Amino acid sequence: MSLRLLQEDVLFYQRFLKGQLFYTGELDGLWGRYTERATREFEQATVHLRDDIGAFDLRSEANIMTLTLTAQREARLFLKRVASLYGIKVKILSGTRTYAQQAQLYEQGRSTPGAIVTHARPGESHHNFGVAWDIGIFDSDGKYLTHDEPYNQVAATGLTDTLEWGGHWTTFVDRPHYGLRTNLTLAEIRTRFEEGATLTAIT
Ligand SMILES: [Zn+2]
Repeated sequence: MSLRLLQEDVLFYQRFLKGQLFYTGELDGLWGRYTERATREFEQATVHLRDDIGAFDLRSEANIMTLTLTAQREARLFLKRVASLYGIKVKILSGTRTYAQQAQLYEQGRSTPGAIVTHARPGESHHNFGVAWDIGIFDSDGKYLTHDEPYNQVAATGLTDTLEWGGHWTTFVDRPHYGLRTNLTLAEIRTRFEEGATLTAIT
């Protein structure tokens, strides 16, 4: 997922920008000068954050760009905290997914080939609102690690009061998953997102 792909779904992208007060136009799904201006300002703010906190590997960078600024800050600080862990490297492998991308992912293992990777339909995942990311952990040879232990180790170092971790979930334990902690239900976040209401109050 990249910011470019996010921008291809103009209505989704406008909601994403409006909730962060960058976009001031109508939620009409048409790319116009307000969308253009909001994009420029959003990208500038992203660069400032990167310069302030630090840059990471290219894959993580591409995914961080798809998050809201609040989540970008948290994701960068998280990566910074876990960067010193011995013998492993943490990368952000996914960030925001549009509703259309979530729909496609949901069908995987159901109507399309592959294993089931999500139980969330469009609008049912925190990834649909710019406030969640998934990590991958690699050893010093670059091998992708999937067993629980390193994920628990990263959580022990990386978690703060401002973050939610999928490893704490009981119905579907999801150790690679992190997101902003919020006192809103998923339905409340979804309603706000679709109205273009501010999401910065979530934290
Ligand atoms: Zn996730």
